[in-house]
Amino acid sequence: MEIDSSAALRVHNVRLVDGLGSAVVADAVLDAGADGRIAYAGPASGAPAPSPDVRSVDGRGGTLLPGFFDCHVHLGMPSNRSIVDEALMTSPALRTLQTAERLRRTLDAGITSARDLGALPAGFRDAVGSGLVAGPRLQTSVGIISHTGGHADTTLPGGVDLGFDFCALADDADEVRLAARRLLRAGADLVKICTSGGMSSAGDDPDDEDLLEEEVAAAVDEARRHRGRAVAAHAQGGAGVLAAIRGGAASVEHGFGIDEQGCDLLGERGAVLVPTLATVFEPLDAATGPPWRYEKKMRWNERTKENIAAAIGRKVTVAMGTDAGISAHGRNLAELAHLVELGMAPMEAIRAATSTSARLLGVEDRLGALRPGMLADVVVCAGDPLRDIGVLAEPDNIVLVAQQGVVRKSALPPPGTGSTGREGAPPPAPAAAPGAGDSR
Ligand SMILES: [Zn+2]
Repeated sequence: MEIDSSAALRVHNVRLVDGLGSAVVADAVLDAGADGRIAYAGPASGAPAPSPDVRSVDGRGGTLLPGFFDCHVHLGMPSNRSIVDEALMTSPALRTLQTAERLRRTLDAGITSARDLGALPAGFRDAVGSGLVAGPRLQTSVGIISHTGGHADTTLPGGVDLGFDFCALADDADEVRLAARRLLRAGADLVKICTSGGMSSAGDDPDDEDLLEEEVAAAVDEARRHRGRAVAAHAQGGAGVLAAIRGGAASVEHGFGIDEQGCDLLGERGAVLVPTLATVFEPLDAATGPPWRYEKKMRWNERTKENIAAAIGRKVTVAMGTDAGISAHGRNLAELAHLVELGMAPMEAIRAATSTSARLLGVEDRLGALRPGMLADVVVCAGDPLRDIGVLAEPDNIVLVAQQGVVRKSALPPPGTGSTGREGAPPPAPAAAPGAGDSR
């Protein structure tokens, strides 16, 4: 999650939402030192005088928020092409460059930290950290562990195995330990497992069970033995949700079938739900995808909305994740509007995507809140997301993005000029040729 560069930054003429749910400050100033840490965040009336050499940004009455988290992305996966096309028809070099473009687009959408849950090699994390490419700070699971025939088995119905190196098959507790060790050796920051089938896998169903409770526990123990790392569990059906929590996973990903028992157990164990509602709310084109995937989605969508709304009503701890790669890349903050549609207050949704997500990723001591001493990962949004949470969904409304005080995107005119621009990385790419990016 670390990045090397930092800069002093001052933002004024903004409404401040601190990510912890505190009262909004109507006319605020944020001041960060050269070390990229926040020295002041509060009312303009109490702000220290600006130091002469600091970069000062006029937020034009917009809303200043902590840089957002997306705790469930697949930056190595296209959202607009099938994985068959990706595996068989796309050169490795092109895949790498397309991933770099998605990193930039995700950052521009206001996501300054992301947790990738499969198909992103650790080198991308390190490239972002060193400034080689612009993108969210990253944690990555590198791969995904499931049973043979489970959610991470990419053997197609015709018998051809797509052979993605990020898919790790393991069929008992010892094999799960070995698979986890291999992924940790490849630089994984956490271990991703599957305790249920899924929507996008041909051979299973969300209600199918995948890793058993004792296999989850083996993964959890193996991750813990490597610098206290955590396990995230893809768990859609009710049985998979319970196996994930009982086995000790830190987060239930999707949780579409979660019931009252699952919610209670989640609370008891201090686990977190990452509901990835973008995959539910985004329409799926029946004409372009395989029929089994469309059928599963139709069968699950309404149930999912009811279950997640009930979980929100029961006040389970929710962190924000989109499953971008399955859902569209670069519109990550639309997820907050989905959470609000299912019953969250806008302030709660913002907390889910900032301080709560930071806690899930174990970085709450430095990220996810605008408080003195925290790193100045910040976003300015035109408009007021507490009145209309939907304003965050449109990347053009994200007018400033900074990490550790370094401005990565600015659509605010600098004083004395009429121009706008982005900094800290190459200029924006021209409009993508058909099929080149993920334009959906
Ligand atoms: Zn996923």
